[in-house]
Amino acid sequence: MEGTTATNPPPFLAAMVARMTATTTALCAWATDAPRTLAEVEQQTLAATRGLGNALLAGVCAVLAEAVAPASAPPCACGHPVTARHRRPAQVTTLLGPIVITRPYYSCPQCHQGHAPLDRQLGYRAGSTSAGLDELLALLGATADSFEAASTLLAKLTLVQVCPNLARAATETLGQLLQTTEQQTVVAAWGPGTLPTAVATPPRLCLSMDGVMVHTAEGWREYKLGSVYTTATRPSPTHPGHDEVHAQDVSYVGDVTDAASFGQRLWCEAARRGVLTAQEVVVIADGAHWIWDLAAEHFPGATQIVDWYHASHYVWQAAHAIYGEGTPLAKRWAKRRLAELWAGQVPTVLAALRHHQQRAAAVADALTYYTHHQHRMAYADYRARGLPIGSGTIESGCKQIITARLKQAGMIWSLAGARAVAAVRTWLKSGRWHEAIALRPPPHRTYQRRAA
Ligand SMILES: [Zn+2]
Repeated sequence: MEGTTATNPPPFLAAMVARMTATTTALCAWATDAPRTLAEVEQQTLAATRGLGNALLAGVCAVLAEAVAPASAPPCACGHPVTARHRRPAQVTTLLGPIVITRPYYSCPQCHQGHAPLDRQLGYRAGSTSAGLDELLALLGATADSFEAASTLLAKLTLVQVCPNLARAATETLGQLLQTTEQQTVVAAWGPGTLPTAVATPPRLCLSMDGVMVHTAEGWREYKLGSVYTTATRPSPTHPGHDEVHAQDVSYVGDVTDAASFGQRLWCEAARRGVLTAQEVVVIADGAHWIWDLAAEHFPGATQIVDWYHASHYVWQAAHAIYGEGTPLAKRWAKRRLAELWAGQVPTVLAALRHHQQRAAAVADALTYYTHHQHRMAYADYRARGLPIGSGTIESGCKQIITARLKQAGMIWSLAGARAVAAVRTWLKSGRWHEAIALRPPPHRTYQRRAA
């Protein structure tokens, strides 16, 4: 039976051929009816193709529905065999527009629960969207400027019209699933001690953390983002003859949560990336206390590095306070201190600052900062070892994952919505889209009880 189904012409073949003929004839008549541009013909052809594709998909699904064997329905959840059989139409919106699948429908004589085994086999839910459309909606919902823009883009790309809330639902549902998955990983690692499977054994693994504020209905909340990456050197585009260290294979993890929970989440991601077998672990960040506390707790053997930009910022602040902003003296003094800092001579920088200690608060701030972090500022040593000294990777991550999508003008998010959309974006920007999509469970059956 299976062997012949594939070779026999499908029952809707004649109808498809007739439709193709009619579509082609109508398209040619329309195109020659008046002067048309290629853009117009292109759009018209696209719409015609979409119509044919829709008919083809519906036809194939009808063949599948026909092929369901009468005895294939499993017993009802209540244990009673299902007997009554008839066909019922179910609508599903696909990448080729809405189609109706008239499939075998069973009902349980005992509890009157309805059953449509084909729905499970095809992995769709009546009245819902196909897995393909759902994926595209989530992708557009996470990457377009807004859910409205996502639905506009979808219509442009596929000619399928859906309301923006469908893009929101697809994106948030996926995001909640990813959050649950991440949470389960944490619970497994901290409870029974089931560690995430490491995908690599990198010689060096770098970690960065930062916070970025998101406007939610509950006020401005800090989204904590972590990045995990390896490094490689390449010729510097700005300094010919020099090499520069750059980040590669960057993955992200983040949430609006407390530092402790975030630390566990980041550790799991680091474990997945091979932190337990890495020969060298490096943490690069700005001076925020929670970051260094987490680094000490979760990555105790790591080399800690204060981001060069943040460190040099304090030199400039002090220089402006001592000699006046923009003055040649301020510039000269700052450049000397930066050269010392670059050479790893933090004690010399500290001595120069102490000389002006009474002058301004900015000098005192710089003194505190350099005193506190001097063991994280051995820049000459880091450069000699080929370590990155900038936290640009995490700052760019904050912009890519949060600012670009969640901080559009006037946006105020529900806290749950912001967390879910951000979760989708972390997986997407980590190159894990296919993994994220594969996590989706088969749709649940939600048939209503039929009246007795
Ligand atoms: Zn039943």
